[in-house]
Amino acid sequence: MKGQFPIDKFQEIETPFYYYDTDLLRATLLEIYREVSRHEGFEVHYAIKANANPKVLNIIAQTGLGADCVSGGEIRASLSAGFPPKKIVYAGVGKADWEILLGLDKNIFCFNVESIAELEIINELAGKRNKKARVAFRINPDVGAHTHSKITTGLAENKFGIAMGDMESAIMTASSMEHVEFIGLHFHIGSQILNMDDFVALCNRINDLQTQLERKKISIANINVGGGLGVDYTHPNRVCIPDFKGYFDTYAKHLRLRPGQKLHFELGRAVVAQCGTLVTRTLYVKQGTAKQFAIVDAGMTDLIRPALYQAYHKIENISSEGPKSTYDVVGPICESSDVFAKSVDLNEVHRGDLLAIRSAGAYGEIMASQYNCRKLPKGYITEDL
Ligand SMILES: *Cc1c(COP(=O)(O)O)cnc(C)c1O
Repeated sequence: MKGQFPIDKFQEIETPFYYYDTDLLRATLLEIYREVSRHEGFEVHYAIKANANPKVLNIIAQTGLGADCVSGGEIRASLSAGFPPKKIVYAGVGKADWEILLGLDKNIFCFNVESIAELEIINELAGKRNKKARVAFRINPDVGAHTHSKITTGLAENKFGIAMGDMESAIMTASSMEHVEFIGLHFHIGSQILNMDDFVALCNRINDLQTQLERKKISIANINVGGGLGVDYTHPNRVCIPDFKGYFDTYAKHLRLRPGQKLHFELGRAVVAQCGTLVTRTLYVKQGTAKQFAIVDAGMTDLIRPALYQAYHKIENISSEGPKSTYDVVGPICESSDVFAKSVDLNEVHRGDLLAIRSAGAYGEIMASQYNCRKLPKGYITEDL
């Protein structure tokens, strides 16, 4: 277990920091490539918001994936990392004018439009640039993902997308506009989904919608099913590459693609979660009345997932082989929710020990804040050490 981290190198780096295992990242990307190539018309975009560390992005861009962006800043980050504009898709409920103009000026592949109000602004801004914007409608499929309530996005009550009932009229409206070209439908039902039945439910819904549109002689060139494939946070060593075969096969089996139709995916977490580790140093071991605390120098400002989503991350003491003892692992931030784990068994912890908080590559470094006037954590890849 200790062998997988360059611990001697870690000792020289200021903690806390993120470490990205690029061998694992490359193996993950290779597996995606292998599985996607088995299916005609499948295209994968990496969801930039999961991790926008420039070095990580660069490696992902080199493998030929497209980029899924949710802001103008992400469009810029993906362009600097080398993602080609023709492989960039852009979603988001609140696109500002400058962000839309950036997308137009860079000729991105597609705007995933989430309201008629937004469509009208895109048409207007594209007109000013004398361009035709390619648009897809993000449809809220009212399909529940069996995951944490803060990360479901495809229910009627969520803020995302256009209601199914408004889909046809939205397409008609787009067809009547001079500066937009309607090219497809977009969906995204949530994140950290491990039950393939949720994706099957999405496929069935899309099949129905397609049949409905075909009756009206509306054909769809692109279907984008978003992302959401989950990872095994409990066993980062045993299941370090998600089941991409099962995931893509599910879509191949259940989604009835028409000839020539493209199927787009937007995977974030599944690409980067397992290659990332938050490395933190133990400041104090404190004996409470009922509990023993390992107080570490990383906090919820460095990794907010446990505080925000009650997320589990496996923690390992990579400095010690001592007998196991039970700890609450907590950070220094002045918030009671600044807890990484409660009652976990770790090799006996001493001041100075390095703890590895695993599976932290997705929604980790990118969500860091400076609350309490803290420094942002740095990110290192294998090649940096
Ligand atoms: C966040 C997001 C994704 C990626 O989700 P993961 O669960 O990280 O795969 C894909 N598409 C859209 C529109 C998103 O907002």
